[in-house]
Amino acid sequence: MLDSPTREHLDTLQEVMADGDFIVLTGAGISTPSGIPDYRDSDGVRRGRQPMMYQEFLAAPESRRRYWARAMLGWPRVRQAQPNAAHEALADLQHGGLIRDLITQNVDTLHDQAGSHDVIELHGSLHRVLCLDCGQRSERDAIQQLMELHNPYLAGVDAVQAPDGDTLLDPAFEARFQVPHCPHCFGERMKPDVVFFGENVAQHTAARAMAAAENAAGMLVVGSSLMAYSAFRLCRVIADRGKPLIAINLGKTRADDLLDLKIEASCEQLLPLLVEVLDR
Ligand SMILES: [Zn+2]
Repeated sequence: MLDSPTREHLDTLQEVMADGDFIVLTGAGISTPSGIPDYRDSDGVRRGRQPMMYQEFLAAPESRRRYWARAMLGWPRVRQAQPNAAHEALADLQHGGLIRDLITQNVDTLHDQAGSHDVIELHGSLHRVLCLDCGQRSERDAIQQLMELHNPYLAGVDAVQAPDGDTLLDPAFEARFQVPHCPHCFGERMKPDVVFFGENVAQHTAARAMAAAENAAGMLVVGSSLMAYSAFRLCRVIADRGKPLIAINLGKTRADDLLDLKIEASCEQLLPLLVEVLDR
């Protein structure tokens, strides 16, 4: 038996999403049950250390050394994360033609791993690495192998996990770190193919997301505090057009004033139930 708030929420979602023209926007909250740490607590306030800013990453070789040394140790945990019931439910909705588009702020590719396709990755993907010199992309796994090969002294070093695959590492270890070189041009300005703090979302990605919002009948936000402007502005578009905006999120969001309905529930429990009601 479902408790009555859950039943009511599912009835509302079923009603507004019946035509299959909703889009879904996901954030860190959908991946925390998969072991990917969240940036923010339930008040939407940033936890822990400031992540590296884009300008800082670009400015100095030492910044890139620090970034990559930590990222090398953090990668196995990101790499091993598995999609959970919420990712799988959204893949089911997509395959059933029950949603139009899937947009994510996450860089973990767990939607792809769950079987979703054409996911609009607002903030890119940690599974790719971009060379800032020649513009070519490489698989992160290949770059990881290079880093492990050239930094055997870090084998077995433990690091405290932080968000975005970064880790907290003793600075003494960083000084010796050999940064990865691009397999195409041998340049040493390699960057994970993600949008850093202080960096803009790629123009074509922002445009795709905006078009999705314009064409949608409404939007369901899953597990996001919507603090990033690239996500918040999509909510503004939906709300400004008078289309329904609903969030499933534990805790505060930046768009609380714009929401037609906020469901404070765990998405990996609620979304599989939503698949059942929409798939009838
Ligand atoms: Zn290159």
